[in-house]
Amino acid sequence: MIQVTLLSHTPDPMRSLYMAYRTCYSTLTPQQVARRIEDDRITGAQMRQFIEERLKTGHASPLEQVAFEFGISGVSRAFSHQFVRHRVGISFEQQSQRYVTYKEGEFPYTVPESVKKAGMADRMEALFGDAGALYEEMVAAGVPAEDARFLLPNATNTNFKITVNFQALLHICDLRLCTRAQWEFRRVAALMRAEVVRAVPELGKYLQPKCGELRMGYCDESVADWEACPIGRVRPHKDALFRLYDQYRKGELAPLRDEDWAAIEEKEPAGSSEPY
Ligand SMILES: Cc1cc2nc3c(=O)[nH]c(=O)nc-3n(C[C@H](O)[C@H](O)[C@H](O)COP(=O)(O)OP(=O)(O)OC[C@H]3O[C@@H](n4cnc5c(N)ncnc54)[C@H](O)[C@@H]3O)c2cc1C
Repeated sequence: MIQVTLLSHTPDPMRSLYMAYRTCYSTLTPQQVARRIEDDRITGAQMRQFIEERLKTGHASPLEQVAFEFGISGVSRAFSHQFVRHRVGISFEQQSQRYVTYKEGEFPYTVPESVKKAGMADRMEALFGDAGALYEEMVAAGVPAEDARFLLPNATNTNFKITVNFQALLHICDLRLCTRAQWEFRRVAALMRAEVVRAVPELGKYLQPKCGELRMGYCDESVADWEACPIGRVRPHKDALFRLYDQYRKGELAPLRDEDWAAIEEKEPAGSSEPY
């Protein structure tokens, strides 16, 4: 079972973030800002408001000064391969298949729901059982775990201890809460989000897919993917926004029609005998 736990984070994320941003925009030194926070000349509400305004801008580097540590367990190696593609602002430690030898050939694994629904879980598990038995034989014959693991499937479970800064976590959620991401990564990202929302709700709410109202607010995937997306209906596609902008620039925005005005004024459109 996938488990995600926020193990620790920057002691006072809002204070750290406020001090980082305020240092950029103030004649005060960071030490003076810290003193003003300590003696309540700068309140929590003022810090929150200041940070909210900054978060509407592209000034993102202060977000790197807040870090979150997570324990993530029971995820597949199919997931972990995607996870470690994130290169910036995140540090990973992952359970090793070189130094950890599975006892009696029993390795933990994940069977996706789609395989269960297709009625093929038994065959998949039988194959894993055979792989485990051969793994055990190899280890008994002196093959090191680092070589016996060549038998193991993508389904094999693994564990992580990671540290990720807030800017990197926003980026990961942009991509991996998007419905184009695989279900397992979406679940891990959603669980990381839930943990941050619980601990620091003021920041957690910004962890959204990139089309979320607190992120870009529109979809930049292909039109076909946008049409197929279950939340696409409430998010505009970027092509629609550019078309609208282009029409506006050329003075070609469709004028309001009689029926639009009728709707505004709650009147029957001209020539209509049907109740409107
Ligand atoms: C839906 C989906 C499908 C995918 N399919 C595939 C696939 O088929 N094959 C595949 O190989 N991968 C695939 N990926 C992985 C993808 O290509 C990225 O490797 C992964 O999402 C990490 O994203 P990133 O590079 O934006 O993040 P990070 O590595 O965390 O980078 C963060 C930011 O820094 C920038 N950055 C990082 N390093 C550099 C650099 N050296 N130079 C300039 N800018 C840099 C990135 O552009 C990004 O904006 C897929 C990802 C998604 C979400």
